[in-house]
Amino acid sequence: MNKKIFLSAPEMGNNELKYIQKVFQSNYIAPLGEYVDKFEESVKNYTGTKNALAVSSATSALHLALRVLGIKDGDDVLASTFTFIGSISAILYQNANPIFIDSDFKSWNISPKLLNKYLLTCDKKPKALILTHIYGMCADIQKIADICKMHGIYLIEDSAESLGATYNSKHTGTFGDMGVFSFNGNKILTTSGGGMLISDNKEWIQKAKFYATQAREDEIYYEHIEYGYNYRMSNVLAAIGVAQMEVIDKRVAKKREIFNWYREFLDGVDGITFMPELKNSIGNRWLSAILFENIDYKKIIKALESKNVEARPLFKPMHLQPLFKDAKSYLNGVSEELFKKGLCLASSTTMTKDDVEMICSTIKQELI
Ligand SMILES: *Cc1c(COP(=O)(O)O)cnc(C)c1O
Repeated sequence: MNKKIFLSAPEMGNNELKYIQKVFQSNYIAPLGEYVDKFEESVKNYTGTKNALAVSSATSALHLALRVLGIKDGDDVLASTFTFIGSISAILYQNANPIFIDSDFKSWNISPKLLNKYLLTCDKKPKALILTHIYGMCADIQKIADICKMHGIYLIEDSAESLGATYNSKHTGTFGDMGVFSFNGNKILTTSGGGMLISDNKEWIQKAKFYATQAREDEIYYEHIEYGYNYRMSNVLAAIGVAQMEVIDKRVAKKREIFNWYREFLDGVDGITFMPELKNSIGNRWLSAILFENIDYKKIIKALESKNVEARPLFKPMHLQPLFKDAKSYLNGVSEELFKKGLCLASSTTMTKDDVEMICSTIKQELI
């Protein structure tokens, strides 16, 4: 049996171990340490944001964002329905109400039209929108940022999957009031687990840092006026992050190359369409995603499984999750259709063109 091909396996660069060794030599295993600062610096420089905070996950970064923006009990928070649960959990942590907005076929992300319509007609103004750039591909983000501004609601970009993606040459995560990145094991870069909160607003990031470190007041003894969390990233993991940031452009190029191989090998095959890319944007193609018109994708998953290749259906929309059976949603059928027809194909940056060819011929065999 060939080695298992994963959807998105980690790929280390050349310096991760070297930097970890430096951490060990300095004994700054904890607390924090210089690599945390370096990691934040590198994300700031790369994305062009003014402030960054390294934390334990993107989920905790989103939680900090909502807490800092004062979102609390009973507030409405809009969110993508076509996303991963980690995008939504923080809304529940704050006892706020998620309201799910559907996608459009042009981007597979939130439909600006639907969003605007909701905001024009809703009885109760939401406090914020958490928007996901799904599979690393840009939402119609400039338009959506303008709509949020016009209606006076905060925009938080869940860029957990989209580090390196740009719209009009501007990085995802920097259009809204705050943005988050994930360095979880399956993302385009990984620190094994980790996240980053970014914003141009210095006060917000300082406040987030305060909450992320148990909300300790500035005293020599432990003084607490508010409660916080234990959400910061360790210096050991930040060392991995610094080395991973050195190869981000390479990883984006490879992910895009893998997608292009899929397109090349499946070119002209009936009933297959690929996830689109918005004009003026360059996505990172974190996972290559494909729709199948004429076949039950379970057959394809099974065929790939027999070749030791991972594949997975597209995200089941949040409004279809039992957890959210009582939540409000604003729908147009797009995310349900994507879920019904779509698969994520293996997109690990360690893959070769031969791997992709093998996967495509396995798929084609199921289509005859
Ligand atoms: C991975 C992911 C998250 C959560 O990231 P963690 O770092 O694992 O907490 C949130 N939103 C989306 C869209 C994701 O893909």
